[in-house]
Amino acid sequence: MVVGLGLAGISFCEQLERNKKSYKVFNDGSQTSSLVAGGLYNPVILKRFTLAWNADIQLETAMPFYSQLESKLGVKLDCKIPIYRKFASIEEQNLWFEATDKPRLGKFLSTRIIENDNKSVDAPYGLGEVLHTGRINTKTLVRAYESFLYEKGNLIGKTFDIDALIVEKEHIAYRALKARKIVFATGFGLISNPYFNYLPLNGNKGELMTIKAPKLKEKNIIKSAVFIIPLGDDLYRVGATYERADKTNSPTNRAKIELLDKLHTFLKCDYDIVDHVAGIRPTVVDRRPLVGLHPKHRNIIVLNGFGSRGVLIAPTVSKQLFNHIEKGEVLPQEIDIKRFSKRFAAKKS
Ligand SMILES: Cc1cc2nc3c(=O)[nH]c(=O)nc-3n(C[C@H](O)[C@H](O)[C@H](O)COP(=O)(O)OP(=O)(O)OC[C@H]3O[C@@H](n4cnc5c(N)ncnc54)[C@H](O)[C@@H]3O)c2cc1C
Repeated sequence: MVVGLGLAGISFCEQLERNKKSYKVFNDGSQTSSLVAGGLYNPVILKRFTLAWNADIQLETAMPFYSQLESKLGVKLDCKIPIYRKFASIEEQNLWFEATDKPRLGKFLSTRIIENDNKSVDAPYGLGEVLHTGRINTKTLVRAYESFLYEKGNLIGKTFDIDALIVEKEHIAYRALKARKIVFATGFGLISNPYFNYLPLNGNKGELMTIKAPKLKEKNIIKSAVFIIPLGDDLYRVGATYERADKTNSPTNRAKIELLDKLHTFLKCDYDIVDHVAGIRPTVVDRRPLVGLHPKHRNIIVLNGFGSRGVLIAPTVSKQLFNHIEKGEVLPQEIDIKRFSKRFAAKKS
């Protein structure tokens, strides 16, 4: 059984599919992270010009993964678009050039400074191009995968009620269903799961707006105070915010004002707001995924903690989890929930 059909659940289902396993998926839409995500895959942290955790390796697994899903589901998911990072000063240009020499990072940073020729964008110090980047249409992916599972008879579009789970040594049971194992891929919903609520999943709310800006005519993703992501038809995603206190999925006026203030620092044309969405990123104290078997009940499993980089992380980490469960391969220590075993012991006592 799999609970949750965001990027984590879908990536794990794909492992089950490719290895011809039988399974059922519960999904209730209570979390929205994968539905609202900007969907960017970008190996570079654009604040500091450093490589995101293992992003170069994850990219190699992610690209064929989404391309195979496009063929299987018959939908367009991957838009390869460069990201242009707006420089705020000459100092930033110099930092960028230093970064282009760094091992593993350099191949993602163009050494050419792009002069801005878009009159609707203010960028007097030019822009740096990040290479091998783009956007996965995560909402299309979730909807297409739901349909695929529904047609197979594998989708149960209901809330999984944890109180009805019966855990035996060799199997688990849930109402009329019986399975060898259960994988919880419930995003921020994990905090209400008594088996795993000892794990330090913080959650970080993000909000994004969609604007229509006919005069902007920008083909590239621009990163300044916020991202502007072209969607086609003069539509652009603008975002995102980061907020720790509010753990609801509702859009707020506070975030709207923040996004517009940041947008106005570099966008110089008229636009209309056409959409505004919110979701909780499943973020972890040490910024690494939460993966592995429950310390006491080995047939209860977690796949979570993809933070703000689910698009890149999900395909690699799901495969690592599958190979751990089915082939006995060792999980990398940095993602294994064993690193929080002291918290589990403290909660029990
Ligand atoms: C505003 C915003 C922008 C983002 N932009 C990017 C980006 O550009 N690039 C990127 O890589 N990442 C981005 N992210 C992060 C990305 O969205 C997450 O890393 C990823 O979606 C997490 O996937 P998940 O499957 O773990 O969780 P989720 O997508 O939250 O999925 C969990 C699923 O479990 C289901 N569920 C939960 N509890 C139950 C239950 N009891 N019964 C049944 N179903 C249940 C939920 O309904 C949901 O479908 C962004 C996130 C936000 C909020």
